[in-house]
Amino acid sequence: MTRLGVFGGTFDPIHNGHLRMAEEARERFALDKVLLVPNAVSPFKTDRNVTPGQLRAEMIRRAIADNSFFALDTREIERPAPSYTVETLRALKAEHPHADLFFLTGTDAVRGLPGWHAPQELLALAQFIAAARPGVQERDVLAALPSTWEARVLFLPMPELDISSTDLRARARDGRSLRYLTPHVVEGFVREQGLYLPIRDPEANSFAGEIS
Ligand code: ATP
Ligand code: MG
Repeated sequence: MTRLGVFGGTFDPIHNGHLRMAEEARERFALDKVLLVPNAVSPFKTDRNVTPGQLRAEMIRRAIADNSFFALDTREIERPAPSYTVETLRALKAEHPHADLFFLTGTDAVRGLPGWHAPQELLALAQFIAAARPGVQERDVLAALPSTWEARVLFLPMPELDISSTDLRARARDGRSLRYLTPHVVEGFVREQGLYLPIRDPEANSFAGEIS
């Protein structure tokens, strides 16, 4: 029976915290494959400009090119936002009726599960793997979830990596290095594409006239 990992997220950008977490989950739970599924603008993240899905997907594609266990799945960015994980898991279950599905999350994300769309169905479709992330302990997750859900949540202890996309975006905006926080190919892509730089306000360009 195939054991299929499904790793959803915004991945704006993908970083070594994501990659190491997926590798730890694959090894610990003997996953045959891990699909990385970038979401269309997440219902939880509508307060900022998210990088277009095609660019987030391209960074994932480059980051995982050397790992045959990992694959990019673009179905969510091909659907209109918002992305509901339950729709993705339903589709994957239909495509792989004999597979066991495992949905990968960090402890910060799984703590919010009661607020997701159709959580009971989600847990029926997949077991959740909750990877240790700095700041949110296993007990915080357990306190947030109904006790009947606990059997479907597998905790994954791992060396915690205090890396976040938020921090990487701030570094890129300030012209600081992303080296060793994300693969070299992602770092290069962010630079080439000028991602995460401050948005230039066209109204603010009036000084050009004052110089002349
Ligand atoms: P942002 O700062 O924009 O929220 P992020 O770094 O949290 O970005 P997401 O795309 O929000 O990345 O995360 C996708 C999934 O990966 C979530 O389940 C999250 O908990 C998990 N994750 C992200 N970073 C880590 C990390 N350093 N260690 C373990 N899990 C992580
Ligand atoms: Mg996050």
